[in-house]
Amino acid sequence: MSANLSAIAYLVASILFIMALRGLSSPETARNGNIFGVSGMVIAIATTLASPGVLSYELILVGMTIGAGIGTIIARKIEMTALPQLVAAFHSLVGLAAVFVASAAFHNPAAYGIGSFQNIPVPSLIEMSLGTAIGALTFTGSIIAFGKLQGIMSGAPIVFPKQHALNAVLGILLIVLVVMICRDQSVTLYWAIVALSLILGILIIIPIGGADMPVVISMLNSYSGWAACGIGFTLSNPALIIVGALVGSSGAILSYIMCKGMNRSFISVILGGFGGETAATADTMGERSVRNGSAEDAAFIMKNAANVIIVPGYGMAVAQAQHALREMADMLKAQNINVRYAIHPVAGRMPGHMNVLLAEANVPYDEVLELDEINRDFPSTDVAFVIGANDVTNPAAKTDPSSAIYGMPILDVERAATVLFIKRSLASGYAGVDNELFFRDNTMMLFADAKKMCEDIVKALE
Ligand code: NDP
Repeated sequence: MSANLSAIAYLVASILFIMALRGLSSPETARNGNIFGVSGMVIAIATTLASPGVLSYELILVGMTIGAGIGTIIARKIEMTALPQLVAAFHSLVGLAAVFVASAAFHNPAAYGIGSFQNIPVPSLIEMSLGTAIGALTFTGSIIAFGKLQGIMSGAPIVFPKQHALNAVLGILLIVLVVMICRDQSVTLYWAIVALSLILGILIIIPIGGADMPVVISMLNSYSGWAACGIGFTLSNPALIIVGALVGSSGAILSYIMCKGMNRSFISVILGGFGGETAATADTMGERSVRNGSAEDAAFIMKNAANVIIVPGYGMAVAQAQHALREMADMLKAQNINVRYAIHPVAGRMPGHMNVLLAEANVPYDEVLELDEINRDFPSTDVAFVIGANDVTNPAAKTDPSSAIYGMPILDVERAATVLFIKRSLASGYAGVDNELFFRDNTMMLFADAKKMCEDIVKALE
């Protein structure tokens, strides 16, 4: 394929990737977005395979078959709640691929048209060493993130004295090595960059609590994009440069959106120590009593309501309660009760988490409303049905300046005539902050697994 033709094909693929991102921003257009993404990837792969530099189609075919096989099995098996760690595992591979490509180019630059061994032009060396450093850092950082989320290692922050100072010194050392390799193209220096970056990846991620990992994963997503972008320059591949920059910037924007939704600064996430295995319990809340209800009580209250707003949270995802929940909502709607869903921007553990689960259970999109679309309706609502959500309803975000979630917008469920909370205990959620609402007069606690409770309410409604 001629250089001009492949440049045009890569451009078309890049436009399709941009359209994919646009499509994925809403559940209604997400399927189309996926189709655009897949089409873009097919064009990009076909163009690469048609380029004159390909040495062995057999090896490529073997690699693609193994990769596609593993990918298909994982995609079919993966639970929705395990997506964050899957993404982390995939990022580690992107990082590793960047290191492999860069080291191949460093040792055999002639094959890439960038000079000869130890005589590589400085701009290429800078791209290569940055791609290597970011790739290696992403590799080990993603493995630690995967380990924390999968429960292979403790999710608690691992901290020690002078940790941030040590990271800063190692970071500066890494920059010095990159400068040195531009002057003296030594193999030892190259592998020193790889080793140091691998260590830095571990050190940067260990102080971050398991619960903060979604933000970190999106940040590592961004790093993997920049690593790919750097390698795109080494390979003179415009698609890789554009796609790397797209992934890099969209990952950074996503991290920013998550931090903004939680009202936390990105720096405080990176410096870590928040959101470990904290669990405020009834002990920390004194001897106060709560109103405890059963599935029958909940069914009775909702049957007599005109409006119900369902507020799903992380616990619904853990319990996989979305199908039972939709069945319950269908029964209420059959009795002419107005049922809608209120989605907080950071409900669950990843952006769009709740929307994806509700879509999986075929909940109609027009019943699912964002915080700013529905918040003002709570005062005129009979029942707020909070299922596995906690922080996103906690009024401490408005009233307690010392609280970790102060300033985060919340769903005003407290304003509904009755608030039903399904959760298993009085334990706190992600942010480790007690929720005053459990003790209010208009609150009824339904202590149970979310799926089991929904199934019992369905039986009671029958
Ligand atoms: P929370 O983590 O605040 O609360 C979830 C609640 O679900 C827990 O209190 C838990 O209580 C309950 N729960 C757990 N398992 C079950 C189960 N099987 N059945 C019933 N209940 C269960 O979740 P929210 O969705 O309210 O808030 C999300 C939090 O995550 C926010 O603090 C947000 O900032 C943070 N976050 C969100 C991100 C995102 O992009 N969405 C990214 C990073 C962080 P109990 O143990 O008593 O059952």
